[in-house]
This record gives sequence, structure tokens and C-alpha cells, in this order.
Amino acid sequence: MLNKVKESLKSLRLKFSAENLDMLLKEANDNEYSYLQFLETILEQEEKNKFTNKIKRNLKISGLPVMKTIQEFDFKFQTTVTKRQVKGWMDFSWLENRENIIFMGPPGVGKTHLAISLGYESIQNGQKVKFYSMQSLVENMIIADSDNRFTVYLKKLLKNDLIIIDELGYLPLKPIYANLFFQLVNKAYEYRSLIITSNKTFEEWGTFFGNQTIASAIIDRLLHHAEPVIMNGDSYRLKENTKFQMKEVS
Ligand code: ADP
Ligand code: MG
Repeated sequence: MLNKVKESLKSLRLKFSAENLDMLLKEANDNEYSYLQFLETILEQEEKNKFTNKIKRNLKISGLPVMKTIQEFDFKFQTTVTKRQVKGWMDFSWLENRENIIFMGPPGVGKTHLAISLGYESIQNGQKVKFYSMQSLVENMIIADSDNRFTVYLKKLLKNDLIIIDELGYLPLKPIYANLFFQLVNKAYEYRSLIITSNKTFEEWGTFFGNQTIASAIIDRLLHHAEPVIMNGDSYRLKENTKFQMKEVS
């Protein structure tokens, strides 16, 4: 009978219960669980296991390039973003409200670090996240467009709750490609959240997109429900480099 139950659990996709039935039965026996308690324990563990697996899967497909956490972020070095502000984001109401976060500032101030850690925390919170560098996103869009798959591509991309676009502004875009990016921003507007990091100010986006009208239309939609976070200060990379040099000298 035990094996038959295990098979049934498997076919119902209750994998955890199928694999751990002996242990669950023993636990129920040892603790003299009622039928209801036994059922509750099984369902609870199954749900927990499914959630953990979902997070693992979502983390794997997110494309987050490295692991960066909020805990690793030094708020004494970077003071334009406060710990309170970051803690505020941890209630994820910005994601529920389909708001955007835009990190702007010079290189090395921690824009990508914060974007990755917010992506990571959102995944832990059960959300689907996709991370792209602006360059790879645009490359994917161009390929999809030339294969007449752009609409399908966009639809799939917008299945994610949060799309992170890193390093907007490094390489100038041809206006025809800026239009593809506009379509993403337009479709995501009030529907999905975007996190964007950029080393360029909004005034400079016109040059980046090669077309002021498209740039304005993009900024207009992004900023309607967005928190632009202007970061400045010294580069953390250089700080680490200085430490290295000092060690070398002494
Ligand atoms: P940006 O995207 O603004 O150019 P990054 O986020 O890539 O900068 O940061 C550069 C490096 O410095 C990364 O390794 C990052 O983890 C680290 N870093 C930047 N700011 C901080 C900070 N305030 N606390 C800890 N590490 C930081
Ligand atoms: Mg960066």
C-alpha cells in the first residue's frame, strides 16, 4: 500500500511527500498526530518545498550576473542612498504598484550592486525577475525583430514581474533600435516594474537614443510611476584599488 500511495503522490506532483512519506508517517506516529494534523503537516511541507524550488528555478533563469546583497552594501561609503530607503523597498509595494526604480550616477557608486540585490530580494519574495545589460537586451531585441518575432519576444519578456536593465547609456543606440526599446517601456508601463541603471542624466538620454522625441516618450512613461535615485560620490572600485595600492607600498 505504501508504494501505491507514493506512486499516487508522484502522479499528483506532490514530489516532496512522495519522497519523504516514510519520514512523515514516522513523525505523525511519534507525535500522535490527528488525521487533520497529519494532512496539514504534509500540505505545509509540500507547499514550502514547492516555494523553495520555485525560487531556485527563478534565480537560475533570472540572468543575475553575480550575487550582490543589501547586507554587503556599505551605507557609510555611499550616502546618497540611505538604509531607510532600501529597507522601504523591501516591502515590495513598488513591485505591486508597478513602479520603476532608476539608479543614476557615475561609475562605481553601486548602481548595479543595488539593482542586483533588489532583484535577488524580489526573487526571494516569489517574483519572477530578468536581468539584462542594456546592450544584451537591445541585441536580443534586434535579433527577435529581424526574425519577425519581436511581439512574441516582448510578450515573453513581460511575463516577468521585474525587468532589470543595467548600464543604459554606455553605447549610443541607433534610432531604429531606440524604437524597439520604447516599445518595451510602453508595454511595461503600469503593467510591470523596471529597474534601470544609467551613467547618463535624463538630459543626456536624447543623445543616447539618437532621437529626442523617443527619449522624451521613454522618460515620460518611466518617470510617471518611478523613483529616480540620483547617486554620486566616489567610486567604490577606486577605493578598493587604493587599499590594494597602500598594501603594496607598506
Ligand atoms: P556602478 O554600477 O555604479 O558602476 P557597481 O555597483 O558595479 O557600480 O559597483 C562596483 C563594485 O563596487 C562592485 O563590486 C560593488 O559590489 C562594489 N560597491 C559599490 N558600492 C558599494 C558600497 N556602497 N558598498 C559595498 N560595495 C560596493
Ligand atoms: Mg554598473
